[in-house]
Amino acid sequence: MQYFIDVVLPLPLPKAFTYWVSEEEFEFLQIGQRVGVPFGKNKLYTGIVYKKHRTAPQAYTPKSIEVILDELPIISPAQFAFWEWMSTYYQAALGSILRAALPGAFLLASETFVARRLDIDPDWDGLTDDAFLVMEALEKADLRLEEIQQLVQRKKILPLVHELAAQNYIQILQSLREKYLPKQQRYLRIHPDFHTEKALNLLFEQLKKAPKQSALLLAFCQAQPEYDWMKLSALRKIIDVSSALIRTLCDKQILEEKYEYEDRNLLAPIPLKPPKPLSKAQEKAFHAIQSQWKEKLVVLLEGVTSSGKTEVYFSLIAEQIEKQKQVLYLLPEISLTAQMVQRLQARFGEKVTIFHSKFSLHERVEVWKNIQHHSDKAQIIIGARSALFLPFKNLGLIIVDEEHETSYKQFDPAPRYHARDAAIVLAQQMQAKLLLGSATPSLESRFNAEQGKYGHVQLLERFGQALPPKIIAIDLKEAHRKKQMKGLFSHALYHEIEATLAREQQVILFQNRRGYAPLVECHSCGHVPQCSNCDVSLTYHQANQQLRCHYCGYTIAKPVQCMVCSTPNLNFKGTGTQQIEEQVNDFFDLARVARMDWDTTRGKWAFDVLIDRFAQGEVNVLVGTQMITKGLDFKNVGLVGVINADALLFFPDFRAHEKAFQLLTQVAGRAGRYQGESKVMIQSFSPDHTVIKQVKENDYQSLYTQQLHERKTFEYPPYNRLIRLTLRGRDYTTVDQAATWLGEYCIDKLALLY
Ligand code: ADP
Ligand code: ZN
Repeated sequence: MQYFIDVVLPLPLPKAFTYWVSEEEFEFLQIGQRVGVPFGKNKLYTGIVYKKHRTAPQAYTPKSIEVILDELPIISPAQFAFWEWMSTYYQAALGSILRAALPGAFLLASETFVARRLDIDPDWDGLTDDAFLVMEALEKADLRLEEIQQLVQRKKILPLVHELAAQNYIQILQSLREKYLPKQQRYLRIHPDFHTEKALNLLFEQLKKAPKQSALLLAFCQAQPEYDWMKLSALRKIIDVSSALIRTLCDKQILEEKYEYEDRNLLAPIPLKPPKPLSKAQEKAFHAIQSQWKEKLVVLLEGVTSSGKTEVYFSLIAEQIEKQKQVLYLLPEISLTAQMVQRLQARFGEKVTIFHSKFSLHERVEVWKNIQHHSDKAQIIIGARSALFLPFKNLGLIIVDEEHETSYKQFDPAPRYHARDAAIVLAQQMQAKLLLGSATPSLESRFNAEQGKYGHVQLLERFGQALPPKIIAIDLKEAHRKKQMKGLFSHALYHEIEATLAREQQVILFQNRRGYAPLVECHSCGHVPQCSNCDVSLTYHQANQQLRCHYCGYTIAKPVQCMVCSTPNLNFKGTGTQQIEEQVNDFFDLARVARMDWDTTRGKWAFDVLIDRFAQGEVNVLVGTQMITKGLDFKNVGLVGVINADALLFFPDFRAHEKAFQLLTQVAGRAGRYQGESKVMIQSFSPDHTVIKQVKENDYQSLYTQQLHERKTFEYPPYNRLIRLTLRGRDYTTVDQAATWLGEYCIDKLALLY
């Protein structure tokens, strides 16, 4: 009798692969365990046992497995069920999902490292030849399994490796070693020999002929008059120094250096705060959500910005905790800020775990294990979309905050999934409840609520005394015509910034993310050419001087003048945040400005540092992209300025108006989070655009009705479904023919459906 297992490999393969196992192995193995298997040319991979059976494959002779890596399954049947749904629904290989789901450290078989244990000396004479060779080589360096294979010239080296491990001579590291090491920081100080003024002056004398060295020393003394240690990174902020120069000074024992591990304990305990009692309106929403859950899996909480949705979430979470259930709190990546995590921690303390893409492998494995074992530390998991793949044990509730956010959708690599929709399936499979929360729900979700598919609860007043901000649209056409512009600022916005800073309040200036499709916009009338088929803006393609529809391919030549008012100068460029930052610096004496965009927030906690500087008042003007619009809760923002709303309004996407409304409302929501008045100023060449009106009047309902009507007219979701197919290839003609064929094929098939 023959025994086989099917194994999912972390590769984008359409199918699981079959391997031969012995009867004993077959008895021992369970679905969801990891095994090391050969695949391709001498490569080892970690795969997951997916099926056990007795049918030999037809197409190939199965190989046998190399090693069993787990005692118990690490993937539960429930997780597999979720993967299978995702694989079918999003047309993604199980292997791609495996790779997205498992922390990398679980997967690296070929990459597995072997290291010698320095605390135990092997019995050299008792070693076999092969073992001797390996141990000898390990004296010098750690080895990868592949290197060991080459060394002993044998394929099946795992028995040997496991034998050595059993004798405690070596340890097997499941991933590249350096990935486990916490980050080291380099610190410098002036060498203790020079810690007196006299010695220091003498030193400067000696360095007279070395201007670079004395400049560095001088900067150091000014920054650290008490001769303290200083981070190299901090030093580099003050003075531009080369590594070679620092090396020289260290070698000459003028500077002293040391390395220290950076604290990676993100969730340092913070003091608990007593729960805030819910307001009447919040209490009502809380009960309404619960009663709707009795009948529905999903409830949509539509709560205006600053209404205290988060407090309602907290009460719902508290209830699940009492029932010993796990809660998954999903946020868009950029909303996953220290501010948010700390709020959750202040309420729930050690029960909170964060799962973050910026985490190291080590941290991710730890989180995974805590959740799998239903540890007390992992009852509330806060994370971005990939947290959906964690091994939940007893999931009671998923909260999808800011459910309208596009970043819930993963574009590349596969699996290309929408985390909000996938969360709903996960909740259903795990018999948990799901709450969607937003101030500006996506049309799809709101439509589902209206259709009765989801429950629907509204929270339409701001918490406490907070007044909604006054929203003003500023006409850039007019400002340009009357020469009332200073740089990028209309006089109105300019004066308001000045006045706000003078009142010692803070200003947020928003500019749309760079790299958006270039539009052609008339500076006189604000007209942007549209596609007549698809109702979206045309984008400018410089290479062939055309305007093009991204949906249907409709093109026209670049117009020489505006098609509506015939003005000759058409504008193509967008403005970057950097330019705004510079102008703020030039124009406003009182400004202490900082910029927040993808460039300035790349480091691990760079984002949080900026937020903190703004919260402390160290920065009083924050210039930023999309990032500044998300969930930040500042009390002292008196003015929010939108430099130019048009790129949002005319973004070539059928959801452009919905997105523009959402974004502008979110930006505006950063103001008026305290008692007192606040303003939002939106600059635009189309200040009378319906969407701007709807934002001004905070009229989600009108946006919803109108957009839904357009979606129906132009056959867009939620009335129709869209799939985008992209074909790629080296040869133009082949791709062209294939695309034509595929297009016709689809049309034929669809014709049958209609
Ligand atoms: P949202 O998530 O709806 O934008 P938040 O939950 O951030 O609103 O609440 C806005 C502000 O009001 C926060 O500073 C929050 O601490 C405060 N707040 C909300 N509800 C309460 C409450 N019940 N008691 C005290 N403060 C509250
Ligand atoms: Zn079109």
